[in-house]
Amino acid sequence: MKCNICKYPLEAAIFYSQENISITSLCEVYPQKTEVFFCKNCGHSQTTPLSDIDKYYDLSYKILIETEEEDQLYQTIDGHKKYRIDHQVETLLTKVNLPKNAQILDYGCAKSSIFKKLVKIRTDLTPHLFDVSEMYIPFWDKFVHSNNWATYTVKPEWDEYFDLVTSFFALEHVTKPEEMLTTIERLLKPGGVFYGIVPNTYTNIADFIVIDHVNHFSQNSLEVLLKNTGFEAIHIDPESHNGAFIVTAKKRSINKSSSVVSQPSQYAISDLEREVTSIAEYWYNITTKIRYFEAEHSSCKFAAIYGSGFYGTFIATCLENLERVECFIDLSPYRQGKYLLEKPILSPQELNKSTELVYVGLNPQGSSRSIAEIDNWHEYTHEYFYL
Ligand SMILES: [Zn+2]
Repeated sequence: MKCNICKYPLEAAIFYSQENISITSLCEVYPQKTEVFFCKNCGHSQTTPLSDIDKYYDLSYKILIETEEEDQLYQTIDGHKKYRIDHQVETLLTKVNLPKNAQILDYGCAKSSIFKKLVKIRTDLTPHLFDVSEMYIPFWDKFVHSNNWATYTVKPEWDEYFDLVTSFFALEHVTKPEEMLTTIERLLKPGGVFYGIVPNTYTNIADFIVIDHVNHFSQNSLEVLLKNTGFEAIHIDPESHNGAFIVTAKKRSINKSSSVVSQPSQYAISDLEREVTSIAEYWYNITTKIRYFEAEHSSCKFAAIYGSGFYGTFIATCLENLERVECFIDLSPYRQGKYLLEKPILSPQELNKSTELVYVGLNPQGSSRSIAEIDNWHEYTHEYFYL
């Protein structure tokens, strides 16, 4: 296998899952081993793609398609909930100076809830949408003219048409990111801006083992990708969105072919390799740790899993005896009342007082603080397991 970014041949996998099952970004169990490789040339990490990847995105990948309003919780500060869409719109407007009446395209947009919200704030903008599936059209139809969207292939009249092309959490899914960025570059006006968000596996380590996240970018590999596809003024921001990199870059206006791609220093690459190796070891060992804790507490009758997202699902798939888990607990009202692995998803206030164990299925960074902020749990005596 070759690196998706720099085409350098990849050595042996640095991670493979213990079981022949993996978890998708939509928290579904998928019957394939996860294998992750690291590129020693550009510092990119990549996962073996799903065996039926095109069909998967066309027909099966239904992100938040259940209702119009459904959204994911971004963070909770002092009990105040902030949702991902709001945060992403705010950040985009802060970071990009959009000209009046700009033509904008969301590439790989799914429902494009972000553009829907954005054009309510900036009514002068004309939104355009593109995805490799037709299942989102009923959502697009509510706020975009049908001439301004395309599925499977982009429209020929879109060449050099856009002031801004965005990509929110799409590049990590594609096996040919260079092809996608080359198309985006072609669709931008000279000097037009690309704005993208991808997971940062170094601060959100769940990304590392999500089976449909083919690409795990580093700042280095993102920079190589953008330089190779005709961008300049590349800025990669690891701060403004938790667990993600925000990329802004301009379409290069002149001397396209003369640009020389600078290679990251070997010092930086070996640092990255050390970090991804330790993430790989963490995931390899955590299954054993979960099962050890479970065995140690085998006399407990009632357990719950806090978090019904990726980490919570991961814990559930590791447990030997899932019957003892009565429920998942989740702060998000969009998750409450639903079911995951046939267990109800409840609010923290609904947790049964007889629950003895709580497996905390949250990003290990900051998970103990999230638990400490739950009001009525201080008086409970249950024991916690932290990832
Ligand atoms: Zn590479």
